[in-house]
Amino acid sequence: MTETLITSEVDYESEGRQTGYLRVPHSVTRSAYGFIPVPVTVLKNGAGPTMVLMGGTHGDEYEGQIAIDRLAKNLRPEDIVGRIICLPMLNFPAADAGLRCSPVDEGNLNRAFPADPRGTPTQLIAHFVEEVLMPLADYAIDLHSGGASLFYPPTFMRCTGWTEEETATLRKLQTAFDLPYAWVFTGGGGPNSTARTTMGAAARKGVVTVNAELGGGGAVTPEILALAERGLKRALHAVGMLPGYQPDKTRGTRELHIQGLVHAYDRGVFEPLLEIGTEVGVGTVLATIHHPDDPKRAPTEIVSGYDGMILAMRALGRVDRGDALFQIARDVA
Ligand SMILES: [Zn+2]
Repeated sequence: MTETLITSEVDYESEGRQTGYLRVPHSVTRSAYGFIPVPVTVLKNGAGPTMVLMGGTHGDEYEGQIAIDRLAKNLRPEDIVGRIICLPMLNFPAADAGLRCSPVDEGNLNRAFPADPRGTPTQLIAHFVEEVLMPLADYAIDLHSGGASLFYPPTFMRCTGWTEEETATLRKLQTAFDLPYAWVFTGGGGPNSTARTTMGAAARKGVVTVNAELGGGGAVTPEILALAERGLKRALHAVGMLPGYQPDKTRGTRELHIQGLVHAYDRGVFEPLLEIGTEVGVGTVLATIHHPDDPKRAPTEIVSGYDGMILAMRALGRVDRGDALFQIARDVA
């Protein structure tokens, strides 16, 4: 049995709808015997697969928080087959503060796996996800966005699959989600995964897992939120867990491999010159960094080191050396 310090207010085996909190013990000056409340809803209807839905893994990414919260509150247990575990604010302190990392311990939950069962609150949550929830699960979906610092178009994310069966299921989920883009990892997955993410946690426990990047800039985009909610329902339907749902016509997904990131080497004000979706080549001028603090200094050109399409770009005007400005991706051959 696992040595988690977290207690669940819900029973994962009971039928129907249950709501409550994962109690992450947290003893501080203002609350000696307190806990951090991670909201959880469990919907269960008889035998069938288990799907874990995660949002707020990064607290400044909002589409997943809304989509999973609405699903948890609106789906009726009798509509589903099996069990859905909904965690719309998985790293609750980060989500409550609207920050990527937890203000309690500076923990980045999606870099915390595999985690110390006696570690910080972020590590306790990561350990609970990997050692308690993933062993219950057949499928896991973690919804992200570009957060405060990046913009992404609606982009599905998956590995290529550890077995032929897993690959087929991942493709089925991709088709079901039906987002305009899919970021397909060229490696990873499987029981030997060393990934520090929820995807790694799922892979190590044999759970079929996908993510999505859904917008960003620290805001909610209604069209992207609608695609996320449609995608979740279509995915549940595709694995037989939402039999009464009628999926609409599939629109199609462009599969991409990431080529790399373009970083800033200068401090200043970032002026992007091209939009997401633009095809670029090695040497294409992507942006200008201005130096209004220095009357003598000319602006700095940012050029692409890759051939491909701009998939993601920085959402913030201020940049510093080391900041990622663009992510370039290319069609899967
Ligand atoms: Zn994220």
